[in-house]
This record gives sequence, structure tokens and C-alpha cells, in this order.
Amino acid sequence: MGLSGGDRTVMRARQISSIRLGFHRRVAVEPIAPRASGRQRRAKASREVTVFLDRDGVLVRNRSDYVKGWDEVEIVPGAFAALARLRSAGARILVATNQSAVGRGIVRRETVDDIHDRLARIARAHGGPIDGFLVCPHRPDDGCQCRKPKPGLLMRAQRERGLDLSAAFMVGDQASDALAALAAGCTPILLGDGAAEVSGSLRARTLGDAVDLILHATGVDS
Ligand SMILES: [Mg+2]
Ligand SMILES: [Zn+2]
Repeated sequence: MGLSGGDRTVMRARQISSIRLGFHRRVAVEPIAPRASGRQRRAKASREVTVFLDRDGVLVRNRSDYVKGWDEVEIVPGAFAALARLRSAGARILVATNQSAVGRGIVRRETVDDIHDRLARIARAHGGPIDGFLVCPHRPDDGCQCRKPKPGLLMRAQRERGLDLSAAFMVGDQASDALAALAAGCTPILLGDGAAEVSGSLRARTLGDAVDLILHATGVDS
């Protein structure tokens, strides 16, 4: 027994109304929920400051013959305590380092990764975990886009993590760090007085002093 034309019309009308009901239910709920969470996301992103750190000369002492293994790592006193203060303020911490010794065949990439694993463990133990390590393994004449002063490492972090680079800082000990920061739209902070003057860069004596600057600039210390 088939449905009459009239019944079919009723069926279709019911299907349509239930579809519409579903649609209306969706639009009734979604505009409130996703927009609210979008606002929260934006608010969170604007509060979440990213601090890029150069490795050698900031966390670890520079060596003219490169840091070639864990036994050559000499941690800068107070550096990890400074990371813990950044973390308490809610900052994201990323290390961005040129390691041309890899491209030169002086250090294996696995050795660099091992050093970073160990640094990450120490940072965690000090309460200032490092969120990631960005490494340029290339030689200066490789013409890569990631070796500082190019901003490639910072841009990669931006792409992969959706960072707000305009609210980010880069702490380094060389002009190339400050130039990479400026090219990426971040605020550079140069440590010590070893680096050439870079217009637009802040200066700090130590990483601890740089953290003071960052917390002051982001209003966390007020
Ligand atoms: Mg350095
Ligand atoms: Zn590179």
C-alpha cells in the first residue's frame, strides 16, 4: 500500500521541518559557543607571550670551537631560574639556535638533539620548561632561510604553533639574533655588551634582567 500524494507531501514537510529544526538548533547554539571560545582564544593568545631564546651565550656559555657535546656544556648561572620566572608569568619558551657545526661536520645532529634533551630536562626540573628547540643546522654559505639573522626559525614556529610574533621577544647575545627578531616582527633583547648595536633592540645585562624587561613590558609585574 503506497502513500497517497498528500501523505508524501506531509512526510516531506516533516522531514524538511526536522532538518530545519536541526539547522535552527545548530545556529541557535553555535553562534554563542564558538564565538565565545574564539574570543577566549584570542584573549588567551594575546596574554600568552612567546620568548625565543638563543642558546649559546644565553643558556649555555659560548665556545669559540663550538659546543660539541654535553661535556662541553657550561650552563650560564641563573639562566634556568630566569626561565622559571618566565613560565610562572605564563610565557611560552622556545630556543632558536644556529648550529652550523652540524653542517660543517663538526657535530652530529643527534648530539645537538641530545644536548637539547638534557637542557629540557634541567629546565623542567627548575620549573621553567622549554616548549621547543628550533635548530638551523646549515652553514652560512648554504643560503638557507633559517640561519639567523634570517627570521626562518621564528617564522616556522609561528606557522606550526600559531604564535603572535608581534607579542614575542627574542633574547640573544649577537646582532644576528636581534636582526632575526626584527625581521620576524618580534622585540629583540641583546644581552651583555658583546653584540654590535642594533637599532630597535633592547639591552639587558643578564637573562634575569631581560626577563624583568619582558615582565614589565607585558604588565605581568604590575
Ligand atoms: Mg649566541
Ligand atoms: Zn638554516
